[in-house]
Amino acid sequence: MDATPTAESAGMAQAIRAPGVETVPNAADFSGLPPRDDDWTDEHWRYLIEWLLRAQLFSARELASLVLGHLNPSQVGTSIASKKTFQAHYPPRKTMAAVLKWHMEQTGKCLDCNTRLELQADHIETREDHGDDADRLENMTLRCRRCNVIRRPSHRQGGRTHLTAEAALMWILFVKRPRTYQAYEVLCRSYGMTMANIRFKEAWAMARWLSREGLYEIDLDSSM
Ligand SMILES: [Zn+2]
Repeated sequence: MDATPTAESAGMAQAIRAPGVETVPNAADFSGLPPRDDDWTDEHWRYLIEWLLRAQLFSARELASLVLGHLNPSQVGTSIASKKTFQAHYPPRKTMAAVLKWHMEQTGKCLDCNTRLELQADHIETREDHGDDADRLENMTLRCRRCNVIRRPSHRQGGRTHLTAEAALMWILFVKRPRTYQAYEVLCRSYGMTMANIRFKEAWAMARWLSREGLYEIDLDSSM
């Protein structure tokens, strides 16, 4: 077997060996907290929420509305019952009743991480392995959006931390407070994010918007 690393595998190894986000200290407001979000306790997260509220990044009402919306069970009935592969197991027009019964019998928590937020119907044995045969109610469970996504082969990097990539992009911005876009990009990479730079550039807009309101400091030599 050829042991010469491909550009891709060398890049992967490099990404894993690069110093992690824990080597960069938190911004002053978060200096008493662990430098890695994986090490945060519930108390630390509570502190972040209170900090964000105090900074008026959003109101308590907006936060409550967002959370309540994500607690509301998603339309699993419609999404499952409309699939021909599921309908095939039931007499005509009986699928929805079966799906609703299945839904009620669930625990209401993500099978993998136990959250009640953003639950979706997901396969126990995957469609990749079992095809249409996987589309049976007995083979369905509830998983949250995050746990559902990181099971896909295309998201193998996903499960490293608890935050989703979109949440981590903002965690880095507020907790590390990099003063240039360049530093932000390095932080995102050292956190383990493997997506294209455009995602970091889009997220950096938050720093720009807040800086215009005097809520974020950006150095003059920032490239964006
Ligand atoms: Zn989950």
